[in-house]
Amino acid sequence: MTQPLFFEPSQEQQDMLQTLRDFLRREVAPSAATRDKTHEFPFELVKQLAELGIMGAQTPEEYGGSNLPSTTFALLLEEIAAADGSLALTVASHNSLCTGHILLAGTAEQKAQYLPDLSSAKTLGAWGLTEPSSGSDSGAMQTHAKEVEGGFVLNGSKIFITQGSVAGTYVINARTDPPRPDKSKTDGLSAFVLPRETKGLVIGRKEEKLGLNSSDTAMLIFEEMFVPSHALLGTRGQGFKDVMRVLDGGRIGIAAISLGLGRAALEASSRYALERKQFDKPIAEFQGIAFKIAEMATQLEAARLLTLKAASLRDAHRPYTLEAAQAKFYASEVAVAACDHAIQIHGGYGYSKEYPVERYWRDARLMRIGEGSSEIQQVIIAREWLKRF
Ligand SMILES: Cc1cc2nc3c(=O)[nH]c(=O)nc-3n(C[C@H](O)[C@H](O)[C@H](O)COP(=O)(O)OP(=O)(O)OC[C@H]3O[C@@H](n4cnc5c(N)ncnc54)[C@H](O)[C@@H]3O)c2cc1C
Repeated sequence: MTQPLFFEPSQEQQDMLQTLRDFLRREVAPSAATRDKTHEFPFELVKQLAELGIMGAQTPEEYGGSNLPSTTFALLLEEIAAADGSLALTVASHNSLCTGHILLAGTAEQKAQYLPDLSSAKTLGAWGLTEPSSGSDSGAMQTHAKEVEGGFVLNGSKIFITQGSVAGTYVINARTDPPRPDKSKTDGLSAFVLPRETKGLVIGRKEEKLGLNSSDTAMLIFEEMFVPSHALLGTRGQGFKDVMRVLDGGRIGIAAISLGLGRAALEASSRYALERKQFDKPIAEFQGIAFKIAEMATQLEAARLLTLKAASLRDAHRPYTLEAAQAKFYASEVAVAACDHAIQIHGGYGYSKEYPVERYWRDARLMRIGEGSSEIQQVIIAREWLKRF
């Protein structure tokens, strides 16, 4: 029997991918452009994805999840993104950020309370780190949690929160304590998990965005929001370490979404270049076009290998901070470049809404920014790499 190569999906993965592809082809891809126009959040599709086991993708079975390895989840996310980038971001942030933080730091009670409903998509998950004045420098957050009898009172706000206005479960990061002497400002931060009904949680404005229009992005405001002590997620004051670990995992997901969008752009461009004739021949026969396709195909394959390497390391419980940052950085950069080439290959049609490639570009553009910008990935890569010397 031929030994499978490490990056080849196993039979089990292939079966799951096939089921998902059939669903995406039937239910998701045909209506993605319409949702891009209407900005409508696809509650029904999310429920159907839950039935396929994708909304609790990495959650243990005892909490209603599918307990999938990171490699499988990356492959599934790539497929979803190739059909609809917005839906892929919904799936990724729900699983990797909100659920991921609960899986990482939650008590048995918190897991039992929140995870089954997240796995079945009875509730969606949102994760709040970014604030109006702190993004890359997330340790500078202003949201404050003051200890009171029986719990904490939170005041502050979060911005750009995926699922912000549609979630039922929120993981919110806030400062509970001042940094201890000789510690950095990231010391003293803590996370809380809370339901939507929490008094004082105000859903703010929904963001108008360049792309990813049917992914929900909203502001959250905390007005004297009381949460009981048992809402504390992880160790008080040590939350930043968990945030970094959650983002390490999340970045594999963003890399996978980048791949899906880049691949969709490549496939659309390949078909178009073979069909479209100018000067009496298919434009694919012009070297200027063919070389673009060669570059897209090669860079996306390299990005896929980086992504699967990071995911494999995570599955093997080995360090993967460097590899996740490399995958996210490279995949998002080459995906945006691929989408740009796709517009060029399509000429004027690429700039029109008649073809999907302008949407792929708009959706892919977020991947260079969210969950740590490309510049921040380079900071992480350089830091992790230089540790070796
Ligand atoms: C659609 C969308 C969904 C999002 N979803 C979520 C979510 O669910 N939860 C959440 O908490 N956040 C979310 N975010 C926020 C996102 O993670 C931040 O936008 C991102 O981390 C960048 O932060 P910022 O926007 O404040 O930019 P800034 O940090 O202000 O950065 C501005 C520019 O400066 C650069 N820069 C900053 N610091 C450095 C440095 N040290 N070296 C070099 N360059 C630097 C950045 O790379 C960037 O180019 C989302 C954002 C968007 C747009």
